[in-house]
Amino acid sequence: MGLRIFNTLTRSTETFTPLDPDGKRVGMYCCGPTVYDFAHVGNWRTFVFADLVRRYLTFRGYDVKHVMNITDVEDKIIRRVRETGESLKDFTGKYTAAFLEDLGTLNCLPPHDLPRATDYIPTMIELIEKLISRGIAYKAPDGSVYFSIEKYRGCGCTYGQLVKLNFEEMRVGKRVSSDEYAKDSAADFALWKARVPEDGNVFWPSPWGEGRPGWHIECSAMSWKLLGGSFDLHLGGEDLAFPHHEDEIAQSEGAELNLPGQRFVKHWMHGAHLLVEGKKMSKSLGNYFTLRDLIAKGFTGREIRYLLMTAHYRETFNFTLENLLGARTALARIDECIRKLRELAGSEFTDDDDELECINLVHPFTEALDEDLNISRAWAMVFEWIREKNLWYSSEQFHEWRAADPPTIKALGSEGAARLHTGKSLTEQRLIRSRKAAAALAAWDKVNSVLGIGTVVGAEAPAEIVALLEARISARTAKDFKRSDEIRDELKSKGWVVEDSPKGAKLKKL
Ligand code: AMP
Ligand code: ZN
Repeated sequence: MGLRIFNTLTRSTETFTPLDPDGKRVGMYCCGPTVYDFAHVGNWRTFVFADLVRRYLTFRGYDVKHVMNITDVEDKIIRRVRETGESLKDFTGKYTAAFLEDLGTLNCLPPHDLPRATDYIPTMIELIEKLISRGIAYKAPDGSVYFSIEKYRGCGCTYGQLVKLNFEEMRVGKRVSSDEYAKDSAADFALWKARVPEDGNVFWPSPWGEGRPGWHIECSAMSWKLLGGSFDLHLGGEDLAFPHHEDEIAQSEGAELNLPGQRFVKHWMHGAHLLVEGKKMSKSLGNYFTLRDLIAKGFTGREIRYLLMTAHYRETFNFTLENLLGARTALARIDECIRKLRELAGSEFTDDDDELECINLVHPFTEALDEDLNISRAWAMVFEWIREKNLWYSSEQFHEWRAADPPTIKALGSEGAARLHTGKSLTEQRLIRSRKAAAALAAWDKVNSVLGIGTVVGAEAPAEIVALLEARISARTAKDFKRSDEIRDELKSKGWVVEDSPKGAKLKKL
């Protein structure tokens, strides 16, 4: 049947079909961070979700182009720049670097493009001019430019595609200059904000005077330049559906950027919130942990990634430190099983598909994720497979023990003891077992290319060292060999060496 996903636009689960006539290339845009502080793990739930989507599409054979913007000019940023007295570039540069580092800690694949909003101001101006020339945007007396919802609707376009809006209760013609506003105050929103004294040095020239862009126009401009006027998939947290994404649609379709007969975006996916005691984790409520807070408590990136990926993306769930300890236990079970499989595989290695392992693991895993990324079912399949593999390992250990058991050898001779039940010599049995284990590891690697929980097996290493190893794995995946070498040297200075092999990276104490 192929991949089916819930589309917020149609409010139904649909078969995913890219715009590409060959059905191969997929353009995917995820709204990135507003870099005014460190991202909290609620934000990370959404970015890990985007990483899962991108990895799964790749696993399903699509050629994905993943774009994630960096919002480096916006109301909250300006406020913080004013408070700190730093330049916009220094201030946002610091948090952008931290974001990219955290992305590596969580083993998220780096997006193919990470456009910064401030590098696309001319594109935003071009887009606003298009809207003005169509009569959908207008300049207000203060020099700001607003999007007119009334004019847009007058052109036969729908405002309220992702959310239901009640226009009777809305005051048409009212303006909002803030980047975030509530559903019942949906009114003409700012595309360009005229310079005010509070903006300090943050402004750009434009045909309407000095000012800065509104938040929503940033994403319409960057996605247009990097993915075209119509693309396949747009993601974000559920709080972005309104007004941010609704406004993106209005701007892009209002400026007729979309291809003839196509929407601005074909499939919209929104991730549910991470909660704390039933409330959205957010900076404003103060109920949050940054990734760095959790690493400082001794948790690893992979534990946090695992936890953020346990629930279905459309279901909210409560974040607790106990859950994070549960993630540690679950990962230990996986690691222990992989360790056993490596022990059985010995020097055998394959990356071929094995029919039995496809039936046992890869196919049920794929079927689960094909159904609107049912990750909880996919994990259930993984743990069922692990249970079976553990049982198999125990039975293989039993065969070894019996073949080496003195009374059995005395009764049957050593060859006879080995041939008991299987009719095969010990050497033959070991070879079959190694091949089976290697096939199981190959299946695991496939599944793990989607889960991205790394392959840390080996010496017991402290959390800080494991985090460094994970960052190195991410750097290598991203082909950033300079960074990967730097991390290797750092590990060495801390007394650990990394051994790379076709089966993954292993840590050894010096
Ligand atoms: P921001 O940096 O505030 O623009 O947010 C970045 C992303 O994090 C957006 O996609 C938000 O929807 C998402 N987000 C914010 N809070 C949460 C939360 N508690 N759970 C999940 N996603 C969130
Ligand atoms: Zn956006």
